[in-house]
Amino acid sequence: MSNTLPPFTDTQAGVYINGQWLPGGVELEVVNPATETVLARIGSGDAEHVESAVLAASQAFPGWARSSGAERGALLRRIAEGVRERRDTLIRLQSANNGKPLFEAAIDVDDVIGTFEYYAGLAEGLDARQNSPVELPSEDFAARLRREPCGVVGLIVPWNFPMVTTAWKLAPALAAGCAVVLKPSEVTPLPELELARIIHDAGVPAGVFNLVCGTGLAVGAPLSSHPKVAKVSFTGSNAVGIQVMQRAAETVKGISLELGGKSSLLVLEQADLDLAVELACGGAFFNAGQMCSATSRVLVAEPLVADFLARISARAAAIRVGDPFSEGVEMGALVNQAQYQRVRGHIQRGIESGARLVCGGERPAGLERGFFLQPTVFSEVPKDSALWNEEIFGPVLCVRSFASEEEAIALANDSEFGLVASVVSRDLDAAERVANALQAGMVWINSPQVIFPQTAWGGYKQSSIGRELGPWGLAAFQELKHVVRAV
Ligand code: NAD
Repeated sequence: MSNTLPPFTDTQAGVYINGQWLPGGVELEVVNPATETVLARIGSGDAEHVESAVLAASQAFPGWARSSGAERGALLRRIAEGVRERRDTLIRLQSANNGKPLFEAAIDVDDVIGTFEYYAGLAEGLDARQNSPVELPSEDFAARLRREPCGVVGLIVPWNFPMVTTAWKLAPALAAGCAVVLKPSEVTPLPELELARIIHDAGVPAGVFNLVCGTGLAVGAPLSSHPKVAKVSFTGSNAVGIQVMQRAAETVKGISLELGGKSSLLVLEQADLDLAVELACGGAFFNAGQMCSATSRVLVAEPLVADFLARISARAAAIRVGDPFSEGVEMGALVNQAQYQRVRGHIQRGIESGARLVCGGERPAGLERGFFLQPTVFSEVPKDSALWNEEIFGPVLCVRSFASEEEAIALANDSEFGLVASVVSRDLDAAERVANALQAGMVWINSPQVIFPQTAWGGYKQSSIGRELGPWGLAAFQELKHVVRAV
């Protein structure tokens, strides 16, 4: 695959409203995190663009809401096909804009295709379920159930999985019959701009899908308080999620929030240590650790901990960090300067807290430019340290040992978050027992972090409100209406 991208010589339009590209106002620089050079310039939007986009969506909504599930399903299949046709370009855009290696970007793009196809299937199934009869304990009344789209929805997404976080919202929103205003991250708008072109070419009616690139304050804030927006679906940090929730509260909007995590991987006494090391590396270093689902806490049964630390430090040190476009690179760059400094600050404070730096923590040798960081492992991390309790969102893994299954479960559940967890053990009864006791929306046993559109995504406690994916992701964009008639 060539590592060249289409040249973005002119400022690209960053606003798409009512089927038209608009130049936007303030110019936004998009930086390649692996080279620190400007990749593109985007004409971004503001509150006035949000106003126009919501108006266009409001006008398009009634017609779109009346379309059949089969018609909407056919459009979603065309979008999936368009993504498949432009797969190579999208992979390169995803890598160049976010800094992740090509093989990871390919997983993202395939996930997007799978998500649109899955919700196409659910949309096609809606017509047969519409007006389904409801059994009542009385012969004097008849009732039927309708599932209707909830209206104009605002979708706000982060930079760590551009296009994927978008697809998880956009596909079910369109399947349900909602009209959409999407705000991509200002850090990584390029993949979503290409997706918007695909959606346009697929023939989605004007006004049903609108996109406004821009900053959180200029675009995200007015979108989350707009009185004509029925629901906001947000993925991002807890700090911003709280602001979105407060704004949405003013007009009692529905909200879905996918926020942060501080998840654990538990290595039980009967674990296959080679597998545990591979899964720990995947859970902490995939996407350079910039994952809400990062299992950045690794809890290891006491008898295994010395061996585990020796093996993981050797494996982490051998991870090839570098140019995301190079063959064989396993970890790319962090997304930008701010994130790079934030993660390095966490590492420094971790050392000051008394945690033992086992390996990493520095810029890799030979990579002078780009936001590159070595995979980093700490052990003996104090339970009250920021390193142990806060989301780091970088390639930093913290190890603690445990003496009993109960202690392991208590350590894992001792967090304000509850997004995911992983368990490694050859004793499947023990693994299943521990999985049942963990406060997490997704638990993997002896498995990498595979995600299927059929299984729900979201977590306990401060990680989420609601669930994405599966039928729950569709239900999040539907209202329920019961019609009861006297007979
Ligand atoms: P962020 O909260 O800074 O930004 C997310 C989005 O919100 C961006 O589009 C941003 O422009 C916008 N925004 C910023 N301020 C806003 C405001 N005042 N009003 C409305 N919108 C505003 O998050 P980020 O740094 O882009 O992403 C990292 C965070 O996302 C991490 O905390 C991570 O855990 C979380 N995340 C969660 C999941 C999940 O599924 N739970 C998935 C991916 C990322």
